[in-house]
Amino acid sequence: MSSALLQVRGLSVIARATQGDITLVDRLSFDLGPGEILGLVGESGSGKTLACRALMRLLPSANLRAEGQAVRLAGQDLLRLDEAGMRRLRGHGLGMIFQNPSSHLDPLMRIGAQIAEGVRLHQGASRREARAEAIEILRQVGIPDPQTRVDNYPHEFSGGMRQRAMIAVALGCNPQVLIADEPTTALDVTVQAQILRLLLELRDRRGLSMILISHDLGVVAQTCDSIAVMYAGRLCEHASKPALLAQPRHPYSAGLLACHPAAQGQGRRMNSIAGQPPLLDAPPPGCRFEPRCNQAGPVCREQPPALRDIGAGQRLACHLPLLDGGSA
Ligand code: SF4
Repeated sequence: MSSALLQVRGLSVIARATQGDITLVDRLSFDLGPGEILGLVGESGSGKTLACRALMRLLPSANLRAEGQAVRLAGQDLLRLDEAGMRRLRGHGLGMIFQNPSSHLDPLMRIGAQIAEGVRLHQGASRREARAEAIEILRQVGIPDPQTRVDNYPHEFSGGMRQRAMIAVALGCNPQVLIADEPTTALDVTVQAQILRLLLELRDRRGLSMILISHDLGVVAQTCDSIAVMYAGRLCEHASKPALLAQPRHPYSAGLLACHPAAQGQGRRMNSIAGQPPLLDAPPPGCRFEPRCNQAGPVCREQPPALRDIGAGQRLACHLPLLDGGSA
């Protein structure tokens, strides 16, 4: 039996369009262990945010639907839960934080009250206990003078402190898994490093499992235990962080690394991957990366590569994988 806390099996997100259905996330499968931080990386539009919103059953449009074999959190299949069950589970089972805290914090509600709301709802605490817990959580996320700051409104916090406050609101629900969607993209480099350190501390202190969505492999390299690379709606490589950074086997992973040499601790010249991802209403019939891949052979144009285990916990979807981690 798998020891995974979260098991995702064959999760797809499909858009209804006038010309027919368009698959935006295509049969995503992965496991997340207790206390593990998984980095979900890929270019904008690769489907990483949509996939995580599908896990939360919070797709941003009525024209989108999620399908799949199963999404099990601690054994409970979220795809089969009714909306009332899902509402109970959001926050407590799966929490989510975002790039822009201002659009997710209530500007008219004190920070402490926003944290305490989740504490009362999900932990059954009294008003007094919830306030004490809100102060403690503010302390844990590094807000100075939390006894005073608990009564502040979001506009009284700086950008970095608002990001910490949003994390505190999520923690108030005591989630099993925290999904962090580009949590540091809008922050300057110093604050970004502080927030990443905070996420690591929270994992260590609370045993929290996390999915960190990022387009930036450097951010993922600083934080995650394992990395899943998405391209054009599909998972193309999934491995432990050391394995993927030391020897990416998929040409797209290698290309991303070449764009972020700092992720490998190297000072190489920055490259970029030439070309654009395909439009998902008419993707290439074979490998979706084929038009941009300098490893491609005839088989790549004809058959989509299946995701397969290649040993040591590594999974790969490529007909002609790299052997030495060279760039695509
Ligand atoms: Fe490149 Fe072929 Fe691998 Fe696709 S399957 S990434 S085109 S080598």
